[in-house]
Amino acid sequence: MLVPIAAAALATVLAAKAPAFVAVIDPGHGGDQDGALSPAGEKEKDVALDLALRISRRLKKMGGKVVLTRTGDITVPLANRAALATALRADLFVSVHLNSMPTPEQRRRTSGVETYFLSADATDSRASAVAARENADRLAGEPEADPNDPVAGILSDLEDAASLQQSSRLAYALHERLVAALGAEDHGVKQAPFYVLAGARMPAVLLEVGFISNDAEAAKLRRREYRDQIADAVADGIRAFRGETRRASR
Ligand SMILES: [Zn+2]
Repeated sequence: MLVPIAAAALATVLAAKAPAFVAVIDPGHGGDQDGALSPAGEKEKDVALDLALRISRRLKKMGGKVVLTRTGDITVPLANRAALATALRADLFVSVHLNSMPTPEQRRRTSGVETYFLSADATDSRASAVAARENADRLAGEPEADPNDPVAGILSDLEDAASLQQSSRLAYALHERLVAALGAEDHGVKQAPFYVLAGARMPAVLLEVGFISNDAEAAKLRRREYRDQIADAVADGIRAFRGETRRASR
C-alpha cells in the first residue's frame, strides 16, 4: 500500500503525463496518390503533410497528444485513417485537404475554404463532387471497395448521432476561424459521404483549406506565413471546441 504522500506524488506525475486531449491529424493522400495539383504542378499530398505537421506542433504546445496518419510520402488506405483514431480513442480527427475544380474557367474563378463532416447524402452537387474526388483514392487503392455502393457502411456510422452533432460543432469552430484568419471566400460547412470520415467514433471533420487549382490561392499556399496562419486557425478552433465541450459536459 502506498503511503499517502507517495500516492499524492504519483497522482501528480500521472496527471502531468496524461495529455489534455488526443488528436489524430490526417494529411490527405500520400504515396502514389497525389491528390489535386496546382497549375504549377504542386501536389496536394505534399502541402497537406506540411500543414498537418504545422498543426501538430501547435496542438502539442497546447498539451495534446497528436498522432499523424502519415509522417512521410506513403500510401495509407482511407479505411485505416479513422480506424487509427478510433484505436487510439482520440478526442478528435481532422483530415487536411486542398480543393480543386475540374474546368479551366472554374479553376481560374474559384478559391476559398470549405469544411465537411459526414453524411450519407451530400449537401449539394458541389459537395458530392468533392466527396467523389476525395473518395477516388479508395477506389484506386482498396480493391475490396464496391464503387457502386459508396454509402454502404456509412449509414450505420451515422447512427451515432451524438458524435455527428459534435462533428458539426468541430466543423463550425474550425471553419469560422479559417475563413476569418485567411480572409478567404466562405464556401460554408457542408456534409457529404467521405470514406475517410466513416468509422470515426469521435468528432471528425475534413478541411478543404484552399483551392490548390486556383493560381492566386496556390501562390498563397506556397508561403510559409500563410501555412502558419492556417495552422494557427485550426489550433484556435480546436481550443474553442474543447472549451465548449468542457462547458457542455459540466
Ligand atoms: Zn484531398
